[in-house]
Amino acid sequence: MSTMQSPPPVAASYPRSEEQIAARVKALESLLIEKGMLTTEVVDRLAEVYENEVGPHLGAKVVAKAWTDQAFHDRLLADASAACQELGIGGVQGEDMIAVADTDTVHHVIVCTLCSCYPWPVLGLPPNWYKYPAYRSRMVRDPRAVLRDDFGLELPDSVEIRVWDSSSELRYWVVPQRPAGTDGMSEEQLAGLVTRDSLIGVGLPDIP
Ligand code: FE
Repeated sequence: MSTMQSPPPVAASYPRSEEQIAARVKALESLLIEKGMLTTEVVDRLAEVYENEVGPHLGAKVVAKAWTDQAFHDRLLADASAACQELGIGGVQGEDMIAVADTDTVHHVIVCTLCSCYPWPVLGLPPNWYKYPAYRSRMVRDPRAVLRDDFGLELPDSVEIRVWDSSSELRYWVVPQRPAGTDGMSEEQLAGLVTRDSLIGVGLPDIP
Protein backbone atom coordinates (compact mmCIF):
# COMPACT_ATOMS: atom_id res chain seq x y z
CA MET A 1 0.00 0.00 0.00
CA SER A 2 1.34 3.39 -0.89
CA THR A 3 2.03 5.83 1.91
CA MET A 4 2.74 8.66 -0.47
CA GLN A 5 0.80 11.79 0.24
CA SER A 6 0.11 14.50 -2.24
CA PRO A 7 1.85 17.77 -1.43
CA PRO A 8 -0.25 20.50 0.13
CA PRO A 9 -1.78 22.85 -2.42
CA VAL A 10 0.43 25.83 -3.15
CA ALA A 11 -2.30 28.15 -1.95
CA ALA A 12 -2.02 26.67 1.54
CA SER A 13 1.23 28.57 2.11
CA TYR A 14 -0.28 31.93 1.12
CA PRO A 15 -0.68 34.49 2.33
CA ARG A 16 2.33 34.04 4.58
CA SER A 17 2.11 35.54 8.04
CA GLU A 18 4.37 38.41 9.06
CA GLU A 19 6.32 35.91 11.22
CA GLN A 20 6.81 33.50 8.31
CA ILE A 21 7.97 36.31 6.04
CA ALA A 22 10.34 37.63 8.71
CA ALA A 23 11.85 34.16 9.23
CA ARG A 24 12.42 33.67 5.51
CA VAL A 25 13.95 37.13 5.11
CA LYS A 26 16.28 36.43 8.03
CA ALA A 27 17.33 33.13 6.47
CA LEU A 28 18.02 34.78 3.10
CA GLU A 29 19.93 37.66 4.67
CA SER A 30 22.12 35.27 6.68
CA LEU A 31 22.87 33.22 3.60
CA LEU A 32 23.78 36.25 1.44
CA ILE A 33 26.05 37.67 4.15
CA GLU A 34 27.68 34.27 4.68
CA LYS A 35 28.33 34.00 0.93
CA GLY A 36 29.88 37.47 0.96
CA MET A 37 27.27 38.91 -1.40
CA LEU A 38 25.95 41.46 1.11
CA THR A 39 27.00 43.12 4.32
CA THR A 40 24.81 43.89 7.31
CA GLU A 41 25.48 47.59 6.73
CA VAL A 42 24.15 47.45 3.18
CA VAL A 43 21.00 45.67 4.32
CA ASP A 44 20.47 48.21 7.13
CA ARG A 45 20.92 51.13 4.77
CA LEU A 46 18.51 49.70 2.18
CA ALA A 47 15.88 49.03 4.83
CA GLU A 48 16.29 52.58 6.14
CA VAL A 49 15.94 54.09 2.66
CA TYR A 50 12.75 52.21 1.87
CA GLU A 51 11.26 52.72 5.32
CA ASN A 52 11.96 56.44 5.67
CA GLU A 53 12.92 58.03 2.40
CA VAL A 54 11.35 56.33 -0.60
CA GLY A 55 7.60 55.92 -0.73
CA PRO A 56 4.38 57.00 -2.42
CA HIS A 57 4.94 60.62 -1.32
CA LEU A 58 7.47 60.76 -4.17
CA GLY A 59 4.97 59.49 -6.73
CA ALA A 60 2.48 62.01 -5.33
CA LYS A 61 4.98 64.80 -5.94
CA VAL A 62 5.43 63.72 -9.55
CA VAL A 63 1.67 63.54 -10.13
CA ALA A 64 1.09 66.99 -8.59
CA LYS A 65 3.70 68.43 -10.94
CA ALA A 66 2.05 66.72 -13.90
CA TRP A 67 -1.33 68.17 -12.85
CA THR A 68 0.07 71.71 -12.89
CA ASP A 69 2.54 71.56 -15.78
CA GLN A 70 1.24 70.20 -19.09
CA ALA A 71 4.70 70.02 -20.67
CA PHE A 72 5.94 67.93 -17.75
CA HIS A 73 2.80 65.77 -17.98
CA ASP A 74 3.61 65.05 -21.62
CA ARG A 75 7.24 64.20 -20.83
CA LEU A 76 6.08 61.94 -18.00
CA LEU A 77 3.86 59.92 -20.31
CA ALA A 78 6.57 59.78 -22.98
CA ASP A 79 9.32 58.57 -20.60
CA ALA A 80 8.42 58.28 -16.94
CA SER A 81 11.91 57.37 -15.73
CA ALA A 82 13.47 60.39 -17.46
CA ALA A 83 10.75 62.79 -16.23
CA CYS A 84 11.17 61.53 -12.64
CA GLN A 85 14.91 62.07 -12.91
CA GLU A 86 14.17 65.77 -13.54
CA LEU A 87 12.85 65.84 -9.97
CA GLY A 88 15.74 63.80 -8.65
CA ILE A 89 13.57 60.70 -8.33
CA GLY A 90 14.97 57.40 -9.53
CA GLY A 91 16.95 54.35 -8.53
CA VAL A 92 16.68 50.60 -8.47
CA GLN A 93 13.52 49.03 -9.85
CA GLY A 94 12.73 52.28 -11.61
CA GLU A 95 15.00 52.18 -14.62
CA ASP A 96 12.15 51.56 -17.04
CA MET A 97 8.92 52.96 -15.69
CA ILE A 98 5.81 53.70 -17.69
CA ALA A 99 3.21 56.11 -16.33
CA VAL A 100 -0.34 55.67 -17.63
CA ALA A 101 -2.82 58.51 -17.17
CA ASP A 102 -6.48 58.09 -16.30
CA THR A 103 -9.06 59.93 -18.38
CA ASP A 104 -12.84 60.40 -18.16
CA THR A 105 -13.29 57.15 -20.07
CA VAL A 106 -10.28 54.99 -19.10
CA HIS A 107 -9.14 53.90 -15.64
CA HIS A 108 -5.79 52.16 -15.29
CA VAL A 109 -4.71 49.65 -12.67
CA ILE A 110 -1.42 47.83 -12.19
CA VAL A 111 -0.54 44.29 -11.21
CA CYS A 112 2.36 41.88 -11.55
CA THR A 113 0.86 38.53 -12.44
CA LEU A 114 4.20 36.73 -12.11
CA CYS A 115 5.43 38.06 -8.77
CA SER A 116 5.38 41.59 -7.35
CA CYS A 117 7.20 43.95 -9.74
CA TYR A 118 6.53 47.51 -8.64
CA PRO A 119 8.02 50.96 -9.37
CA TRP A 120 10.02 51.38 -6.15
CA PRO A 121 11.33 54.94 -6.75
CA VAL A 122 7.82 56.44 -6.87
CA LEU A 123 5.91 54.01 -4.66
CA GLY A 124 8.37 52.42 -2.24
CA LEU A 125 7.88 48.76 -1.45
CA PRO A 126 4.63 47.04 -2.46
CA PRO A 127 1.88 46.38 0.08
CA ASN A 128 1.48 42.73 1.05
CA TRP A 129 -1.80 42.30 -0.83
CA TYR A 130 -0.05 43.27 -4.06
CA LYS A 131 1.95 40.04 -3.76
CA TYR A 132 -0.98 37.73 -3.02
CA PRO A 133 -1.93 35.27 -5.76
CA ALA A 134 -5.59 36.23 -5.31
CA TYR A 135 -4.93 39.86 -6.30
CA ARG A 136 -2.58 38.90 -9.10
CA SER A 137 -4.94 36.50 -10.80
CA ARG A 138 -8.32 38.10 -10.10
CA MET A 139 -7.24 41.59 -11.12
CA VAL A 140 -6.61 40.28 -14.61
CA ARG A 141 -9.78 38.17 -14.85
CA ASP A 142 -12.29 40.56 -13.35
CA PRO A 143 -10.79 43.94 -12.45
CA ARG A 144 -14.17 45.64 -12.06
CA ALA A 145 -15.25 43.16 -9.39
CA VAL A 146 -11.91 43.30 -7.56
CA LEU A 147 -11.97 47.10 -7.46
CA ARG A 148 -15.54 47.06 -6.18
CA ASP A 149 -15.37 44.15 -3.72
CA ASP A 150 -11.82 44.45 -2.37
CA PHE A 151 -11.21 48.19 -2.60
CA GLY A 152 -14.66 49.76 -2.55
CA LEU A 153 -14.02 51.50 -5.84
CA GLU A 154 -17.12 51.34 -7.99
CA LEU A 155 -16.52 52.67 -11.49
CA PRO A 156 -19.35 53.42 -13.93
CA ASP A 157 -19.76 50.92 -16.78
CA SER A 158 -18.92 53.73 -19.20
CA VAL A 159 -15.34 53.73 -17.84
CA GLU A 160 -13.07 51.15 -19.43
CA ILE A 161 -10.63 49.47 -17.04
CA ARG A 162 -7.16 48.72 -18.40
CA VAL A 163 -4.92 46.37 -16.42
CA TRP A 164 -1.17 46.67 -16.87
CA ASP A 165 1.02 43.68 -16.07
CA SER A 166 4.38 44.86 -14.75
CA SER A 167 7.55 42.87 -15.15
CA SER A 168 11.17 43.20 -14.11
CA GLU A 169 11.76 45.06 -17.37
CA LEU A 170 8.76 47.41 -17.35
CA ARG A 171 7.06 48.81 -14.28
CA TYR A 172 3.80 50.66 -14.70
CA TRP A 173 2.11 53.16 -12.42
CA VAL A 174 -0.92 55.36 -12.66
CA VAL A 175 -1.35 59.11 -12.99
CA PRO A 176 -4.85 59.57 -11.57
CA GLN A 177 -7.11 62.40 -12.67
CA ARG A 178 -6.92 65.67 -10.83
CA PRO A 179 -10.00 65.96 -8.61
CA ALA A 180 -12.52 68.69 -9.30
CA GLY A 181 -12.50 71.71 -7.02
CA THR A 182 -8.71 71.91 -6.72
CA ASP A 183 -8.14 74.93 -8.96
CA GLY A 184 -6.45 77.24 -6.48
CA MET A 185 -4.32 74.61 -4.80
CA SER A 186 -0.52 74.62 -4.74
CA GLU A 187 1.56 71.73 -6.01
CA GLU A 188 2.34 70.75 -2.44
CA GLN A 189 -1.33 70.78 -1.44
CA LEU A 190 -2.20 68.74 -4.53
CA ALA A 191 0.47 66.16 -3.69
CA GLY A 192 -1.27 65.67 -0.37
CA LEU A 193 -4.35 64.39 -2.20
CA VAL A 194 -2.51 61.67 -4.12
CA THR A 195 -2.78 58.37 -2.27
CA ARG A 196 -0.69 55.26 -2.72
CA ASP A 197 -3.77 53.38 -3.88
CA SER A 198 -4.50 55.98 -6.55
CA LEU A 199 -0.99 55.46 -7.94
CA ILE A 200 -1.70 51.72 -8.17
CA GLY A 201 -5.17 52.31 -9.59
CA VAL A 202 -7.13 50.60 -6.80
CA GLY A 203 -8.26 53.96 -5.43
CA LEU A 204 -8.76 57.59 -6.38
CA PRO A 205 -7.08 60.72 -5.03
CA ASP A 206 -8.62 62.29 -1.96
CA ILE A 207 -11.16 65.02 -2.55
CA PRO A 208 -10.36 68.30 -0.76
FE1 FE B 1 6.96 40.77 -10.55
